[in-house]
Amino acid sequence: MIDSQTIAANLATIREEITRAAQDSERDPTGIALVAVSKTIPAEGIRPAIAAGQRRFGENYVQEAKTKWPFLREEAEGIELHLIGPLQSNKARDAVELFDVIHTLDRTSLAASLSKEIQRSGRHPTLLVQVNTGEEPQKGGVAPGAVDAFLAECRETHGLTVSGLMCIPPAEDPPSAHFGLLAAIARRHALPILSMGMSADYPAAIQMGATHVRVGSAIFGARQPKG
Ligand SMILES: *Cc1c(COP(=O)(O)O)cnc(C)c1O
Repeated sequence: MIDSQTIAANLATIREEITRAAQDSERDPTGIALVAVSKTIPAEGIRPAIAAGQRRFGENYVQEAKTKWPFLREEAEGIELHLIGPLQSNKARDAVELFDVIHTLDRTSLAASLSKEIQRSGRHPTLLVQVNTGEEPQKGGVAPGAVDAFLAECRETHGLTVSGLMCIPPAEDPPSAHFGLLAAIARRHALPILSMGMSADYPAAIQMGATHVRVGSAIFGARQPKG
């Protein structure tokens, strides 16, 4: 695990890069939220980021987040937790309880489960629809051609407010075309949030309109393989 000074320095560098990319495209840097992706990072690796002022964190797994965040949240004010990994319908209750923003709404059954848990709990996490811009079979997300109908269904059948879109471009493609496609769909529906860009490509995503960039390894170092 990397040391706390390195984590603080990485965060400072990324904040500078975000400001530079925003200025390059004549955007207000305060309109771009950095989500620090802390999947697989234990609590003692996350604390230095909190100490350096980072408050928005992204996790991929509900179960892992449940073991880390309830107590980390008690240690600092203003933590905002983002679910950026695939969500199973049977974890919807935990997800609504724990997360402030869910980036991975991508199918009818999940919309139904989230709707039920939101009504039951009275908690209203911000919801983003994941779009599978590369139409990769192994990846979650709604196909670009199905987004219009899915958004209508979320609203009309399930009473959900969707605030934005998220994508993970195919690893082998230049990302900008995917970011541009996501931005165009969001514009068409007047959705304010665009979650796109990771360690390797967040400046490009900002130039294409990202409001949320999800950065993990550039802050916390390379992840250990899961096993
Ligand atoms: C892991 C992950 C990230 C962060 O990736 P890095 O390349 O480490 O910045 C961002 N978004 C999603 C959906 C992820 O799963």
